[in-house]
Amino acid sequence: MSPTNTPEPQAAPVLEARNLAKAFGSNQVLRDIDIDIRRGQVVALIGPSGSGKTTVLRSLNGLEIPDAGTVTFGQGDASGELAIDFGAKVGKKEVAALRDRSAMVFQHYNLFPHMTVLKNIIEGPVQVQKRPKAEAIAEAERLLERVGLADKRDAYPFELSGGQQQRVGIVRALALKPQLLLFDEPTSALDPELVGDVLGVIKELAEEGWTMVIVTHELAFAQHVADEVIFMDGGVVVERGPAAEVLRAPRQERTKLFVKRLQ
Ligand code: ADP
Repeated sequence: MSPTNTPEPQAAPVLEARNLAKAFGSNQVLRDIDIDIRRGQVVALIGPSGSGKTTVLRSLNGLEIPDAGTVTFGQGDASGELAIDFGAKVGKKEVAALRDRSAMVFQHYNLFPHMTVLKNIIEGPVQVQKRPKAEAIAEAERLLERVGLADKRDAYPFELSGGQQQRVGIVRALALKPQLLLFDEPTSALDPELVGDVLGVIKELAEEGWTMVIVTHELAFAQHVADEVIFMDGGVVVERGPAAEVLRAPRQERTKLFVKRLQ
């Protein structure tokens, strides 16, 4: 099936990452990772467990600081360019600027347990982005309505199912109005019957033209939604290309084995 939102070839670059490298102690988990994402593009990051996918995602968001490489956001964009060289000193200011560009949806939702759904959603916009509270509340209510959770506004996370918590996690990311949405295995902690709802929301966001990177084991979903698939193994990019090519007709042996095992 063809992607629903194939971006214009000339669409503006949202992100350009070059030569990202990261080691944890003696464990070199990323080597020479390059990623280009254009506005409206959906990139699926796939690969075996431990191949470095989450570390890539966290590096793009400043939750991990790579040892080397560069990340450039918004080249030629009206919102201004942000270029970070991880080989140089990266301080709190640079990390905060990096975090401001993207928003992460976590595998385990990571909602604040002591806050209501509404408070979880408006915390970032009000406390970090300093937006007016009334505006943040109105936006949160609109987004909750959209994902079918308007009636859960005043509930606490423990009162919600995993699928509902993850939909709140997605709304919380959207409320930040980021240039880039990052999903870290958003459905892998869910009971099978709850996976479809969450994937449905992500697919709608793709159709609306959100720019996204999704780490996922759901290869059928990746094929359906992603424009580009990047297959990682052992901390390197082994293969990348249009979703249908990488998933249906991979060129590299390692990709073939991985794709076959999961289909
Ligand atoms: P994936 O998302 O593909 O499963 P990860 O990026 O989570 O892979 O992990 C890649 C490697 O980095 C693994 O060997 C993992 O154990 C290691 N790793 C990830 N985070 C840390 C950390 N905070 N400290 C030490 N090792 C880590």
